[in-house]
Amino acid sequence: MSATAMELTHGATAISTLELRKSYGEIEVLKGIDFTAREGEVVSILGASGSGKSTFLRCLNLLELPSAGSLDVFGERVKLRLSASNPRIADRKQVDRLRTQVAMVFQNFCLWSHMTILENLMEAPVHVQRRNSQEVRKEAIAALERVGLAHRINAYPAQLSGGQQQRAAIARALVMKPRVLLFDEPTSALDPELVGEVLKVMRDLAAEGRTMLIVTHEMAFARDVSSRILFLEDGRIGAEGAPQKLFAGGVNERFDQFVRRFNENASH
Ligand code: ADP
Ligand code: MG
Repeated sequence: MSATAMELTHGATAISTLELRKSYGEIEVLKGIDFTAREGEVVSILGASGSGKSTFLRCLNLLELPSAGSLDVFGERVKLRLSASNPRIADRKQVDRLRTQVAMVFQNFCLWSHMTILENLMEAPVHVQRRNSQEVRKEAIAALERVGLAHRINAYPAQLSGGQQQRAAIARALVMKPRVLLFDEPTSALDPELVGEVLKVMRDLAAEGRTMLIVTHEMAFARDVSSRILFLEDGRIGAEGAPQKLFAGGVNERFDQFVRRFNENASH
């Protein structure tokens, strides 16, 4: 692709890692990941259980600190004191700022059970970002409208279905005005009949041109919605490329095997 064509589809570098490593004690979980996501890209991260997908995602918004390598977020190198046993943040203010730019949606929603849906959405923008609560309230209601939950703003999480809770969690991420959205298996905890409503919201966000990195086992979604697939294998990039290419088969034998196994399990 020429530079001009690249610029038309995707913007500047949003997140990049170089030789990113993460160890827990003696065990190295990420073994050197070189990765770049540009603004507007939707990258699906696939791989077997235990391959390091969650750890990688958690390193990107610094829920986990890498042991080695580098991480850049919107052109800023994250300042870390790297160490295999005890990596630390070198600049707390920088990390707080970058964290609000990279929002995460979790498998288990992680809504506060003692707060209403509206209160859940307002909590971080008001108390962490210190934004005006009336403005945040308006934006939170608009975000809930977007995900089809305008009628449930005063409900508590336990009064909602799993699909509704996850849509509320996505709305909560949006109110932070993040520049990147990370999703860690957002539909894995849902009953099958509730998966579609969450994927629909994610498809709409992708169509808007949002930058999204999604760990998922929804193969059809990954194939249809992603601009790129990242296949992790035992803490390394096993394959990477356009979904049309990778899913056509014959590019990477182990990726083909992974998809074959997945399809076999799905049909049982
Ligand atoms: P995935 O999301 O692909 O299933 P994870 O990133 O959760 O994989 O885990 C990768 C490996 O790292 C696994 O072997 C897991 O047991 C290990 N691991 C993850 N988190 C921790 C932790 N906090 N302490 C020790 N080992 C961990
Ligand atoms: Mg995981």
